Amino acid sequence: MVDLKQQYEKIKTEVDVAIQNVINNTAFINGPEVKIFAEDLAKYLNVKHVIPCANGTDALQISMMALGLKSGDEVITADFTYVATAEVIGLLGLIPVLVDVNPNTFDIDVKAIEKAITSKTKAIVPVHLFGQSANMEAIMALAKKHNLYVIEDVAQAIGADYIFSNGEKKKAGTIGTVGCTSFFPSKNLGCYGDGGAIYTNDDELAKKIRTIANHGQSVQYVHDSIGVNSRLDSIQAAILRIKLKHLDSYAAARNKAAEYYDKAFANNSKIKTPQRVKFSNHVFHQYTLQLNGIDRVKLKDYLASKDVPAMIYYPIPLHLQKAYKNDRYKEGDFPVTEKLCASVISLPMHTELDEETLKYITDSVLQFVNKN
Ligand SMILES: *Cc1c(COP(=O)(O)O)cnc(C)c1O
Repeated sequence: MVDLKQQYEKIKTEVDVAIQNVINNTAFINGPEVKIFAEDLAKYLNVKHVIPCANGTDALQISMMALGLKSGDEVITADFTYVATAEVIGLLGLIPVLVDVNPNTFDIDVKAIEKAITSKTKAIVPVHLFGQSANMEAIMALAKKHNLYVIEDVAQAIGADYIFSNGEKKKAGTIGTVGCTSFFPSKNLGCYGDGGAIYTNDDELAKKIRTIANHGQSVQYVHDSIGVNSRLDSIQAAILRIKLKHLDSYAAARNKAAEYYDKAFANNSKIKTPQRVKFSNHVFHQYTLQLNGIDRVKLKDYLASKDVPAMIYYPIPLHLQKAYKNDRYKEGDFPVTEKLCASVISLPMHTELDEETLKYITDSVLQFVNKN
């Protein structure tokens, strides 16, 4: 699905030197690279604080801990997402309240959020799925009206611009109370292992987040709260510093591939290409089709036989997962997510797709679709 090898080849000299430098200095934990990367990323995002941590799941968990969310508090998030979003809510004893998404653009349905708000609701976790921002302006208005925190899950959309109705732009993840991202290797800004970060413009909250990520200590060996151990290591930070400089060109390469796919599948009644929202640009973490009347598993097998990988993100809605099933939900409650989970398929999407490869992929998909 991603070609990290070719991407590495293009920055190999710089990356190898950076890794060797960390080893030479033996500052493996909290070395200068970590601080500099956090500053570089804060500047890129135009946000006051970037707090690096061990992965995107930790970023979500630490944010919820820092906001003081307590057992029994309700947190609203999308039914159509990666499990990590709901997992940390459950892990902290909070109640995940799931809502449906929009059928063409996969973003969380704001009307459904409003319906789900109760006196116990404390936070909304919009997920900027597949590389586009959720409708932050509408979500922030709801949050303000009901006095809720907004924790943006921007693991799949780092670098995406949210476009306000007055034309102003802000980076996805910097609009809510906090933004949480992941540097998992296949994410748009991926390191060579695990990594994550939390963004916020709130000084007090940033301090709490730093403390919680560091065993609850603000001064060494003084523990004011129960925290966790969650760090981005120096080697990963050194790699990310280099890759951050390429993030915009990586997004451009992804968009070019997406446009090729769009054209190849235009006007095919069995294939629906991903729609763009008007309030965000797209950084195409995934390029996800909705199939109509096509056996998805057979298509996937056919593509595999031609060495074309394809993946199903996500095959089962959260409310139908054993771990998240409860009396609140039953099959049929989230018709859009249920339909998406039964009909989506994602094609290879990365920074190294050339026209020849794209032609081979789209020809292979169309060969199957046109004879089935
Ligand atoms: C990848 C991802 C996460 C978790 O990130 P990790 O670094 O793997 O812990 C959370 N939410 C979404 C939407 C993701 O895609």
